[in-house]
Amino acid sequence: TMAHSKALLVLENFIGGKFVPCSSYIDSYNPSTGDVYCRVPDSGKEEVEAAVKAAKDAFPIWSSKSPSERSQILNKLADLIEHDLEEFAQAESKDQGKTITFARTVDIPRAVHNFRFFASSILHHVTECTEMPAMGCMHYTSRAPVGVAGLISPWNLPLYLLTWKIAPAIACGNTVVAKPSEMTSVTAWMMCKLLEKAGVPPGVVNVVFGTGAKAGEALVCHPDVPLISFTGSTLTAQRITEKSAPHCKRLSLELGGKNPAIIFDDADLSQCIPTTVRSSFANQGEICLCTSRIFVQRGIYNEFLKRFVTEAKKWKTGNPSDPTVNVGALISKEHLEKVRNYVKKAQAEGARVLCGEGVDPLPLPPGNQKGYFMSPTVITEVKDDSCCMQEEIFGPVTCVVAFDTEEEVIKRANGVKYGLAATVWSGNVGRVHRVAHRLQSGLVWTNCWLVRDLNLPFGGMKASGIGREGAKDSYEFFTEVKTITIKH
Ligand code: NAD
Repeated sequence: TMAHSKALLVLENFIGGKFVPCSSYIDSYNPSTGDVYCRVPDSGKEEVEAAVKAAKDAFPIWSSKSPSERSQILNKLADLIEHDLEEFAQAESKDQGKTITFARTVDIPRAVHNFRFFASSILHHVTECTEMPAMGCMHYTSRAPVGVAGLISPWNLPLYLLTWKIAPAIACGNTVVAKPSEMTSVTAWMMCKLLEKAGVPPGVVNVVFGTGAKAGEALVCHPDVPLISFTGSTLTAQRITEKSAPHCKRLSLELGGKNPAIIFDDADLSQCIPTTVRSSFANQGEICLCTSRIFVQRGIYNEFLKRFVTEAKKWKTGNPSDPTVNVGALISKEHLEKVRNYVKKAQAEGARVLCGEGVDPLPLPPGNQKGYFMSPTVITEVKDDSCCMQEEIFGPVTCVVAFDTEEEVIKRANGVKYGLAATVWSGNVGRVHRVAHRLQSGLVWTNCWLVRDLNLPFGGMKASGIGREGAKDSYEFFTEVKTITIKH
């Protein structure tokens, strides 16, 4: 009905500093109610073409600004987002299903910080210089922005991950065409409304909404987009690699994980247990860094399992806008079905489900009956070659298994195709270093989880990705280096 369609939020693409409507739209759901509440442009080649043109046109002026001019604009944008933090947090929670608490304390503050961080770090890079006195020569390197950067982001941390790419790209002097996930486009659209006020010139940041297959692929295949920064699944990354190969594009790929937690018998369980519950179930387990395989040394296995399940059961699943809720809704009906199927497969293989899915009742408020909810689920007695121990589930599901020796657990932890993040719990400093060095993992947290210094490299090994992001790494990715030799 008209009244119904009027209530829908309708997004528009942001191209060359203007909002432009699209000829067709995709429905977007509120995961906590199951209702369609928003319409997202279903962009394709034509819209991507217009956005790339706008970005190309804006490049000469933006790239010739000084880093400090760009820095001021990034800081202004950070202030504007921060000013509207509550509004952004509400929107992110509604669009993604995550709890309002998580959006308020993690997603939006980090999006603000991403702009401030790169506004600062862009001012502090130095290039290299070497001398060859015998040849009468000196050499130095110079770095310049590359051009139009294509940025493609996933649905789990929508504004957080998109700004983690936009900020370094534009700080370095590139202009961008961004394509957020079609399932979570609202906060990117809200950010576009602040760009002019922040002083971002038209065409520097363009956002094209739509699906991966149509809008994403048009961006990947566009000949005037020399670099693609992608965060998402390994499968999509393979497709992007193939499609961009004929153009020899520069790629940064941040992909999935199957992250182990290794808990030795000398671990401080009072710290380890609540942190491992958090690392397994934060954001409904929909974080690439979430723990999904917990290896516990035999001597403490029973005690750990008992205390871990008790703690997991304390996590309240329900309406994401209730600030006392710990677990919100999963992103979509299809994703919930996929995550549930993993639990069913584990059971069919003889594994035991100790809490959560299919075990505990999940009472939901009347307004959330059609939402995509699942409570923290702990699986045990599962074999290492089970799909639940090998594949990324990306939901509130974690497996707990026992191990005996350090040598054995390193081998088992490394026995998956992924290599993104691992956690190690032990009071023995020698062991912590030894194990950290031998794990095939881009990040290793010991006796903690998710403590990040954005200066340092972030990214995965093996099927978890190619390239790293961070102060220096993102600067290197988003600039082209040249070596210049001077004879005097
Ligand atoms: P996805 O790969 O399905 O989609 C990611 C983005 O790529 C979306 O914007 C999508 O529209 C687009 N896309 C899809 N097909 C495309 C194509 N053919 N060409 C161009 N673009 C295309 O991933 P998702 O389901 O949105 O996100 C979840 C995945 O992201 C998980 O695997 C998770 O581990 C991973 N992830 C990784 C990190 C990291 O930093 N390593 C961070 C968050 C999420």
